[in-house]
Formats: sequence, C-alpha cells, structure tokens
Amino acid sequence: MPDRILLTGGTGFFGRRIAETLRERGHTVVTPGRPDFDLMDPSSTRRTLEQVRPDTVVHSAAHYGGLGICVAEPVQIFQRNVIMGVNLLDAASKVGVKKFLTIGSACAYAGSVNGDMKESDFWSGPLHPSVEAYGFTKKVMEVGMRAYNRGTGMIGQMPIVTNLYGEHDVFGEYRSHVAAALIKKFADAVIEKKKQVVCWGTGAPVREFIYSGDAAEGVALLLASGYSEPLNLGTGIGTSIKELSEIVARLTRFDGEIVWDRTKPDGVMRKVLDVSKMKSVLDWTPPTSLEAGLARTIKWYMAHKAEAD
Ligand code: GDP
Repeated sequence: MPDRILLTGGTGFFGRRIAETLRERGHTVVTPGRPDFDLMDPSSTRRTLEQVRPDTVVHSAAHYGGLGICVAEPVQIFQRNVIMGVNLLDAASKVGVKKFLTIGSACAYAGSVNGDMKESDFWSGPLHPSVEAYGFTKKVMEVGMRAYNRGTGMIGQMPIVTNLYGEHDVFGEYRSHVAAALIKKFADAVIEKKKQVVCWGTGAPVREFIYSGDAAEGVALLLASGYSEPLNLGTGIGTSIKELSEIVARLTRFDGEIVWDRTKPDGVMRKVLDVSKMKSVLDWTPPTSLEAGLARTIKWYMAHKAEAD
C-alpha cells in the first residue's frame, strides 16, 4: 500500500536518494524545508505536520558530517539534532502518524566493541569521545521512539547506517566523511598535477562503506517490513583507511605519494556492522561493490566539481 510520507532532509545527500527510492516504489513523498518548515521551532514543525498529514515520517535531516565537524562542533551537533528530533517526534504523534523512521548511525555504538557491531551491543558501553555528541543523539531518538510507542502507539524504526558515500555527497574538507574527502583530494591532485596527497591519521582505522543508493533501498525495505527494533544497515565489509586511499588513488589515476598526517585524529579504530539480522529481516544484501560505487561517485564529482563542496 502506498504511504503518504513526510521526509525531512529531502534535499540533502542521503535524503534525496531516499526520496527517489520511495517515489519509485509508488509512495507520495513530501519534502518541505526551511523557512516554512523549521525543525528547530516546535510550532513550525507542528504546523507543517498538520498541513501535510502524513501517515509516515522519515527523518533524514541532521546537523552532521565527518570526524572533522564532530570534533569541532559538539555543541551544535548535540543541540540541533536533539531539538529537531524531539520536535518532530512530538508533532508526528499529535497528528496521528503511524510510522516514524529515523536514520540512525554506527557512531551510536560503544567505541570499543570487539569485532562487528551487533544490534544487541547497542547499549553496551560508552561512545567514542570523538563522535559521542552525534552518536548519543541517535540513542535519544531510539528511547524517544519507544516512549512514544508506549504512549501513543506510533511505531518507531531505526536503520543504523554505516559510512555513506555517493553522488551529491559533501566534499569540502571541514564537513566531509572520509570517502568523499579522499575522492576530492586525489581527483584534485591529479588535475593540479600534485605529487603528494595528505590523508588524516595513521590509515589503520577500519570502516565499512555503503553506497547511498543501496542504503536508500535498505531504508525503503525496512519501512515496508514494519520491523521496529534498531536494525544495522551496511555491507558488513571492513576496509582500512589505507586500503581505501589506495583504491581511490587507483580509480583517480593518482600515481604520487600518499602521506599520513598523524596530528589528525584516527577516531574509532574499527567500525563495522554485523549485518546478519539485516539479511534475514530484509532478505537483502546491498548490491553495489565499493569499487563500483566509488567509481560512480568519482565520475559525479568530476562532472560537478564546481558545485561540490
Ligand atoms: P568516522 O567514521 O565517524 O570516524 O568519520 P570519517 O568518515 O570522517 O573518518 C573516518 C576515518 O578516515 C578516520 O580514521 C580519519 O582519520 C580517516 N581519514 C583519513 N583522511 C581523512 C580525510 O581527509 N577526511 C576525513 N573526514 N577522514 C579522513
């Protein structure tokens, strides 16, 4: 049955892929934005929900970015994400929304999980200090969705998403995540005929990467399933930052030297999700390989360099 969906962050990097995917599946997707729909303002949020009257809300708007912004702006990240999420949850429950899906993040897991992160580890320990402010806002939403479920019956859903990359990503050094950051660094170095690229940290940390189009498909499948526990959404494949830099160097045809700036943070040493539950609940595996997804993203970056930041 097609839903009437209000999607926040619908013009953002991930939100726009979610909108496309849900529309392809026949849903009506409304993506109001500022200034009329200001999630920091409870009355503006409530007014928009009353006008749109969705049966489902997908909350993809967030004040966030890679390790750089998480270290530089903990206050804004904490304050904006909590307020936006709480305003939206409350307004949604008051207009009779049936399903509320909020995008989660692997940053919400404890910083010291051994091996792959399982849903049963979600509350298992303190978050890594570098991403604690952002990661904790996802835990706030998880508790909030359960509280509203008990109080009003609204169903809460949360895909716990790993590092995303893809077309329309944020490429500027301050806000970017590592995949987009490296694409920009290596592609620009080739154009500018530079012989050296400087990456952050030691190259040893391990991350898991999912192509944004695949992650959007996972979100659509989760929504359709009605599954209401937090669910990991990733590939389950770990890649070291050093390996990632070598893949991006090869795909951009960079043949100079890769230098590691150890004054920059490594962040969490390993962040890889256990995706066995995802595979059984959604009966799905993300189809795009890291190389294929990176190649697509590099192509997009080269064609949109002027506007990509
Ligand atoms: P995280 O997954 O939340 O830690 O966020 P990121 O995607 O921003 O960073 C992942 C890892 O990539 C960290 O270990 C960084 O030190 C490393 N890294 C290497 N070069 C860069 C870079 O240019 N930008 C970013 N953001 N990370 C980098």
